Amino acid sequence: AKGAGKGTWQRYRSDLHTAMVERLALRTSLLEAIDARQFVLQYQPIVDVRTRAAVGVEALVRWQHPERGLLGPYHFIELAEESGAIAGLGAWVLGEALRQFAAWHAADPQLALRYVSVNVSARQFRAPGFVDRVRRALADAGARPEWLLLEITESLVLRDAEQVWAELRALRELGVRIAIDDFGTGYSSLSYLRQMPVDVLKIDKSFIDDITASRQQRALVDAIVTLARNLDLTVVAEGIEDDDQRDLLERMGCPYGQGYLFARPLWPADVPPLVGAVTVA
Ligand code: C2E
Ligand code: CA
Ligand code: CA
Ligand code: CA
Repeated sequence: AKGAGKGTWQRYRSDLHTAMVERLALRTSLLEAIDARQFVLQYQPIVDVRTRAAVGVEALVRWQHPERGLLGPYHFIELAEESGAIAGLGAWVLGEALRQFAAWHAADPQLALRYVSVNVSARQFRAPGFVDRVRRALADAGARPEWLLLEITESLVLRDAEQVWAELRALRELGVRIAIDDFGTGYSSLSYLRQMPVDVLKIDKSFIDDITASRQQRALVDAIVTLARNLDLTVVAEGIEDDDQRDLLERMGCPYGQGYLFARPLWPADVPPLVGAVTVA
């Protein structure tokens, strides 16, 4: 038994070593990847739960790694946060998403999509001058503030509440809307929610996963939807994968949803055809 334990430990150590070497390699190339234009964005539609029509898109970053292929954010966002590369990466994502949205809009002023949603990491938000950088990014892209929804996390909204809330208010004064991402997974206190300067709650996928199977989970989501409505907040349910989930959410009065049932994250060229607002040549 002792020998087996040692073997396991050694394998564990060697796995750990490989993981560390990999992280180190990624960290180095991460810093160069922005200049090398290796990041790309996909866009996942956010739809009206009842009609299934897209009303917005969420920009999701991917890394087109020269050796490792297309990497999802789980492979590098945390690393980017730790190393500080998130400042440059986040700025690129914001600028690119706004440029893309402005381009769609220029191609079709009747565009059915009303906004692009952009994830903002805590470190990116807390860096000084964030509001100014958003203002400049909008101007540079020729984008209207209403076109932008910024997704931030619960923990960010709660920490240093006063400082963060002041910036959120400034952003909303610009006309930018704010969403709390992955709502329910953090520690938002309900009494806070009433005063928070935010517009949208995105209910985390983990809550949606079980709504068909679990009555308790259903009650919880129903309560969040009702609460949001009474607080004049918009709700987006994340990770809707089947019709039963959609049906339940519609009955609860959840206005918006996002998930593989409607659409996977799409390459930019596939967005206008899907939305049906632009005639493709
Ligand atoms: P998120 O903000 O919660 O984004 C939703 C994630 O769920 C996306 O994963 C999306 O592809 C996935 N998803 C959407 N619908 C479904 C579904 O029906 N089923 C399943 N199984 N998954 C679904 P993705 O693109 O891998 O992104 C993961 C996370 O990485 C995001 O979670 C977000 O927190 C972060 N992220 C993505 N792009 C950025 C970015 O530009 N900046 C920052 N700071 N974080 C980003
Ligand atoms: Ca998000
Ligand atoms: Ca989310
Ligand atoms: Ca989520």
